[in-house]
Amino acid sequence: MAPPLTSLLPDSPILADRASAWRSAYLHIPFCARVCPYCDFAVVAGQDDLIERYHQALLGEISMAESWSPLDAVFIGGGTPSRFPPELIGSIIEALREKFGFSENVEVSMEANPEDINTTTSRGYSEAGVTRLSMGVQSFDDEVLQALGRLHNGATARTAVEQAIAVLDRVSIDLIYGHPVETDSSWDTTLDIALTTEPDHISAYSLTVELGTPLSRAVAEGYPAPDDDVQADRWERAAERLSPRFTRYEVSNYAISEPCRYNLATWGQGEYVAFGMGAHGHRDGVRSRNLRRLDRYLEAVEAGRPPLAGQSVISGWDRELERLMLGLRRSAGVVAGEGGGQLLKSHPEFVEAGIVELREGRIVVVRPLLTDTVIREVLAVPEPE
Ligand code: SF4
Repeated sequence: MAPPLTSLLPDSPILADRASAWRSAYLHIPFCARVCPYCDFAVVAGQDDLIERYHQALLGEISMAESWSPLDAVFIGGGTPSRFPPELIGSIIEALREKFGFSENVEVSMEANPEDINTTTSRGYSEAGVTRLSMGVQSFDDEVLQALGRLHNGATARTAVEQAIAVLDRVSIDLIYGHPVETDSSWDTTLDIALTTEPDHISAYSLTVELGTPLSRAVAEGYPAPDDDVQADRWERAAERLSPRFTRYEVSNYAISEPCRYNLATWGQGEYVAFGMGAHGHRDGVRSRNLRRLDRYLEAVEAGRPPLAGQSVISGWDRELERLMLGLRRSAGVVAGEGGGQLLKSHPEFVEAGIVELREGRIVVVRPLLTDTVIREVLAVPEPE
């Protein structure tokens, strides 16, 4: 008999492989109080008057979808989903349940910003069916938060996290490191406060300068860019500080016992349906993306048309390479298969330099900071003759 999920460590290869078969749904809520200078997600600010209309459109889009098997994971991302009050989130979760059904112990994750979370809203989201909150804390340092353009401060974030944890069993703290105003000691303090609040999950991502964002324009005009060596050091500090209590199961993700199922499924090339402006889906070897402009998305759904912006079929060798690229991010690595065999053949230096290991038929990146370097090479791995 297969071991129960909760008995497996977050970085278990059995769990990683099982996640490939999970079925998920992604819902995008694009509304934000304002757009942070580093953000390149599909977001809108100052358009909260459209929230009710968007909510109706999401319900409409869900009702148009083809039926599918029960969902193992739902992820409500954004944007800032916590700009939707619990009743609206609840009716969306209910629509998904009616349309697809939920498997036993379904995970329903929702992203939330600290300024929206307190004991009352945490209870509301929990009663609405949310089982896991992913809190966009980013830092507990006021100076860093201000530089990141966030509306909350460290104290508000800490209180929000504590109140969420008092209500929900599963709360993730999401952090961003490497802003030039951050210091080693500020990052250490952020990690220490995060640990003190006792979340069951922490994500720690490096700040990246995405083209077209206000941050990238500022950097082009001379504002200091994040430093690669400093960021590598901050990653090491996080790994060191978190490892006694947490297991790292992906380059940037740590869990005590349960990883985020939706993320684990996507790194396992799992299938998911997607709803909302700019949302991306993956079913039957087809990757699809929705319209990224709010007015066009609303118009399409209100006219009864699927709000699709485009689709691409990923098949054959491309699919094999995609499987590798996604799976290599996990600490459990990925079953080598034909693509992995070709990778090692074309890049023996990865093994010789101790960057990659072959373990019981799996390829594992053992120097996680070099994961992106390995993944870049996967793109050019030749198909065997
Ligand atoms: S709150 Fe999050 S999604 Fe919204 S603009 Fe800021 S970084 Fe982007």
